[in-house]
Amino acid sequence: MPDTIEPGTVWLVGAGPGDPDLLTRKAEKLITAANIVFYDALVGKGVLEIIPQHVERVSVGKRSGRHSKDQKSINDLLLSAARSGKRVVRLKGGDPAIFARTSEEIEHLSLQGVPVRICPGITAASAAVASAGASLTLRGSARKLTFVTAHLSAEDCNATDWAALADPASTLVIYMGKAAAKDAADELMQAGLNRNTPALIVENASLPNERKVRTRLDLLAIATSASVTDGPAVLIIGEAVRPLPPSLSTAYDTAKTAAVT
Ligand code: SAH
Repeated sequence: MPDTIEPGTVWLVGAGPGDPDLLTRKAEKLITAANIVFYDALVGKGVLEIIPQHVERVSVGKRSGRHSKDQKSINDLLLSAARSGKRVVRLKGGDPAIFARTSEEIEHLSLQGVPVRICPGITAASAAVASAGASLTLRGSARKLTFVTAHLSAEDCNATDWAALADPASTLVIYMGKAAAKDAADELMQAGLNRNTPALIVENASLPNERKVRTRLDLLAIATSASVTDGPAVLIIGEAVRPLPPSLSTAYDTAKTAAVT
């Protein structure tokens, strides 16, 4: 696989959940080969430290409700960098294929004849369950996995149909879901999902300020507002995140400590 970038090409690169050790080797090679790196607000500080000094870096930070460049301006910045013959890396938190407006950037650049390539990254849901010692699927009882975002774009007036997602044999991961936690939980329960269904909230997954809270569906909203601060968080609902029995969970914690020290 190439670890250089053709001049005039844009690479959309997954930066993972924040911990620079969760960056792929390919992403690191691409960052090093770039002339210019555009990055989102969710790209970890440790990842930004990997960008060599001589590489130009441009923040196009987007966090909902905060000042940021709009998508059209980002598309235009990428286009003009590519047209001037630069080797362009567009770093996106997590995986570029998940709630990252990748299709819009590809479309805009491709229509203008700019080659675009993608390097995948570790998505927040994967990092969140890894930190909690859990899985997203569970043989026999969670054979389906749904990633949903509760965040509506300005053009999108269709509210999330939570009732359609109430499936006890599925794991539901809600991205950008802090504000919607109450509506989501209420509507899932009204649609028949058991109030005791296990839930896991992970804020700043993989980072030193990570917080994990295990709860259940009927307490999801209160647990979210009580525990989540201003970092990015995923809410995960389903049997797959049921806590391990105490004896096994102690063994997991011990193994984890041993592995990183
Ligand atoms: N492309 C990203 C998702 C971008 S949407 C990915 O694949 O992870 C932004 C949302 O992702 C945040 O609101 C939050 O729900 C989630 N997220 C991103 N980084 C996170 C992290 N380190 N910990 C928990 N959630 C995170």
